[in-house]
Amino acid sequence: MAEVANVYQDALQRVRAIGEDAGVSDEVVEQLLHPKATFCASLPLRMDDGSMRYFKGYRCRYNDVLGPTKGGIRYHPQVTLDEVQALGLWMTIKCALAGLPYGGAKGGIEVQPKELSPMELERLSRAYVRAMADVIGPQIDIPAPDVYTNARIMGWMMDEFEAIKRQRAPAVITGKPVRLGGSVGRDEATGRGAYLCVRELARRLDWEPASKRVAIQGFGNAAYHLARLLEQEGYKIVAVSDSKGGIYSEQGFDIESLWHEKQTSRSMRAVYCEQSVCQLIEHQEISNAELLELDVDLLVPAALENVITVGNANAVKAGHIVEVANGPIDSTAEKVLEQRGVTVVPDVLANAGGVTVSYFEWVQGMSGYPWDLETVRTRLAEYMTRSFDKVWDTAADEGRTLRSAAYVVAMRRIAEAVTAHGDREYFGDQGRKG
Ligand code: NAD
Repeated sequence: MAEVANVYQDALQRVRAIGEDAGVSDEVVEQLLHPKATFCASLPLRMDDGSMRYFKGYRCRYNDVLGPTKGGIRYHPQVTLDEVQALGLWMTIKCALAGLPYGGAKGGIEVQPKELSPMELERLSRAYVRAMADVIGPQIDIPAPDVYTNARIMGWMMDEFEAIKRQRAPAVITGKPVRLGGSVGRDEATGRGAYLCVRELARRLDWEPASKRVAIQGFGNAAYHLARLLEQEGYKIVAVSDSKGGIYSEQGFDIESLWHEKQTSRSMRAVYCEQSVCQLIEHQEISNAELLELDVDLLVPAALENVITVGNANAVKAGHIVEVANGPIDSTAEKVLEQRGVTVVPDVLANAGGVTVSYFEWVQGMSGYPWDLETVRTRLAEYMTRSFDKVWDTAADEGRTLRSAAYVVAMRRIAEAVTAHGDREYFGDQGRKG
């Protein structure tokens, strides 16, 4: 099996490579190679049985040249400092590309959340906020959900932050329950944003949805909403998976009933959805690895990073990939796919719907004036199509892949802000005292 690249080193390598001919100064590229600040904490958790355990918690404020930093918090046993930094870097690129007044950040706890009781999970989430309370805030760094965190957890976190600061602070965190100041439309935003990218792609390729087959790895929040919207448009979703494995059905799945089954499984009465999609309707069972190699028109990795590597890139048969997960294709695999003519809509574009509606939620929280669902959806569509157009046109004009185009658009915006602060041109000879 091919060695999996270190996710952060791989992310840095991508920035270096694309930065070489992005038309920005070395100073800007260099700045993107250094996280602004990374915080690590040991989070004490009193377990239900009275014992005490400690979990590693991280928060990386990667770059704040465009505004306060923004990024989700992940609960996963494989969370590492490198992963958090890579995700923070991608958030920096993503926010710049989406045209949001934010820098990038990310956080995480190294934990298997499914092994905790709901009350242990609440105590751990509050412990995270106690550890990070000085480095997050509505104008500093604004967390949100990511893998295995959700609206309820964001609500606990906001509540803890407000208790520490002794004031209301709905804009400290996004992805909260609507009743606690969350935005309508936030739950579906990542999937809807990815759907809008597929729609734009299909428009340019003259696709007839009914003749297109889609495989989706990971059947969580983002994947469900994307699958639902694609199915409504006529696409056939022939394969989905979760952490326990995948299912394949030639005639295509009924997404709502699949999701319903998953939601109503025993454990959904608690915080997590634990039932595997493998145990549901008539299907052929496949592994996650097999799903990635299915002969489909569109492949959507929507789980974790580094699932397509040099070890399986040649076996991928889909002609088009839309990255809903962050970093599912490593940079070596990407070169293989590029040579084979596979079109990749990159994560920094395809999954930007989540942070875009998080931005809308933050604006609503700061102003105290909630928007309705139609307003959220209309504005999300404006942001996503504007970004897609810009990336597509830059790729065509400059002979780049969509990822390279997305990165250069973002880097050029960051460069403008760096220049506005004063760069080498300003602080060179003429900037020194006479
Ligand atoms: P989620 O926790 O709702 O779902 C994750 C899904 O992935 C689950 O179905 C889980 O079973 C599955 N999974 C976990 N490990 C797996 C494995 N090894 N193989 C296959 N499936 C596996 O998470 P989500 O919010 O839907 O996020 C999914 C991806 O989208 C992540 O990479 C996340 O960073 C990215 N993303 C999410 C958002 C958002 O707003 N939710 C925004 C941007 C990007």
